[in-house]
Amino acid sequence: MSIEPMWLCGECGVQHNFEDDARECCAPTARKVYGCPVCGRTYDNAKQAEDCRDACTAGIPLGPTKAALEAAGQMTLTLKDISSELP
Ligand SMILES: [Zn+2]
Ligand SMILES: [Zn+2]
Repeated sequence: MSIEPMWLCGECGVQHNFEDDARECCAPTARKVYGCPVCGRTYDNAKQAEDCRDACTAGIPLGPTKAALEAAGQMTLTLKDISSELP
């Protein structure tokens, strides 16, 4: 399943498959978003949508975000650093 860009009406937030449709909805604002083809959540960039699709495809329901994973990794590193300084 590929990541297809979609268009969000900037006014009412309705999703459209084509930019022209979004612009005509509540002209003139339209925002390009990327949708996860599995769960339908939309993201501002394709990478986030790909991550979501991969997680959804793997059966991980709304898994932790990359930021959360990085935060957890940093926490693990911090804990390790502290424990190595313990007597
Ligand atoms: Zn609209
Ligand atoms: Zn998803």
